[in-house]
Amino acid sequence: MSPHQVPANAARGTVSEDLIIRSGHVVTMDPGLGDIPDGDVLLTGGRIAAVGAGLDAAALGAPQARELDARGMIVAPGLVETHWHLWNTLLRSMSGGMPGEDRPAGYFPVSLGLGQVFTGQDNYHGTLLACAEAINSGITTVHDWSHNVRGPAHAEAELRALAEAGLRARYSYGYSAGHPNDQVMDTGGLRALHRGWKTGAGAGGLLTLGVACRGPGGSNPAMRVPPGVYQREMATARELGLPVTVHASGPPAAAGQIAALAGAGLLGPDLQVVHANSASAAEIAQLAEAGCAVSLSPFSELLIGYGLPQTAELLAAGIRVGLSVDTTALTGNADMFAIMKLTQGLINATAHQEFACTARQALALGTIEGARSLGLDAVTGSLTPGKRADIILVATGHPNLGVLTDPAGLLVTAAQPGNVDTVLANGQILKRGGALVTLDGERITAQAREALAGIRSRAA
Ligand SMILES: [Zn+2]
Repeated sequence: MSPHQVPANAARGTVSEDLIIRSGHVVTMDPGLGDIPDGDVLLTGGRIAAVGAGLDAAALGAPQARELDARGMIVAPGLVETHWHLWNTLLRSMSGGMPGEDRPAGYFPVSLGLGQVFTGQDNYHGTLLACAEAINSGITTVHDWSHNVRGPAHAEAELRALAEAGLRARYSYGYSAGHPNDQVMDTGGLRALHRGWKTGAGAGGLLTLGVACRGPGGSNPAMRVPPGVYQREMATARELGLPVTVHASGPPAAAGQIAALAGAGLLGPDLQVVHANSASAAEIAQLAEAGCAVSLSPFSELLIGYGLPQTAELLAAGIRVGLSVDTTALTGNADMFAIMKLTQGLINATAHQEFACTARQALALGTIEGARSLGLDAVTGSLTPGKRADIILVATGHPNLGVLTDPAGLLVTAAQPGNVDTVLANGQILKRGGALVTLDGERITAQAREALAGIRSRAA
């Protein structure tokens, strides 16, 4: 095998060549380092060894470092996504139903209905399609909020896809589509996965395990999960020392979910709450007091009618906030550039001020703050020496860019996934010259189409 080939099933991150990214506009997102307009980033052993202008790789102990020319490119931390149901990417843009079908439309009927006929292999194809899109879009960390674990094979298949993709991921093991509200999720399966979780299963440290629990409202505002059920699920996660994530979804009629969690003593710094659009001021104070993180997915929250994200209120309370895709069955794509731009726009619109949120602050939410919200900020989220090499190079030569003005402004308001030239996760090159390197995009999309055809025929 030549050094350029990567075995299809390699647990990436175990072998990384030394690289030096040369002469890019480096946006470190590290307040101590700032931006370096003609900067270099040296990568050794999959980590960031040095950041600066005119780095001497040999003097820094990496004489063999291969150069990646970044002239005309913005070099930035890989984007950090914090809540995404990767499996249902096979149902992309299906929330409105399909032409000629009278099946009830809407995100929950579609994903719950079709989700129940997903095989483990379908979860694999959905997750891999999502990973391919993530890499293409410059996302290097995902939080795989897995709520269609229909058995051990489903979880195993999703983890296999994540390991093949080479992304950094929190895999939050959850329940399944259509799981009865009054029954606890498969905590035995969770315990077995946790027992077997070791460096090998974690793909060289790229994968970490978490638990996707149902809170009082499940993930669907129409769900009502009894306290005894969600309390047992969360207690199991805590007994295992795993981070927990729950949805607090829905329009104002579904408010009070965070207060219920607080009342049961279930809030804590290991808890990520998703959406929280209807959180009251008192509930936001409870989240802040307990040190919880919140994941916001403005596109899905707007499209499904949950209302506006309370981004400014959460940030003002000192809560760790990350941005998320949620589900492409509803939002269509995983464009974190657009998610950052929408986040900035919604904060400014609500405040009636142009700079209530700057592009730089929105970029922080999509990088270092997202990492902090997942407890991964010591590892990723900024171009800080010592962190793992999760990096994107964004080419500015395309017509939608073309000039190199404020790099944060360009990334948040102008850049699109197609501008992402190069993606590295853990020092491995996953995209180069605008093309996927380690994944076969054509094969993945062909298999996704085939898997969806099978799902639809079984559900018919
Ligand atoms: Zn969700």
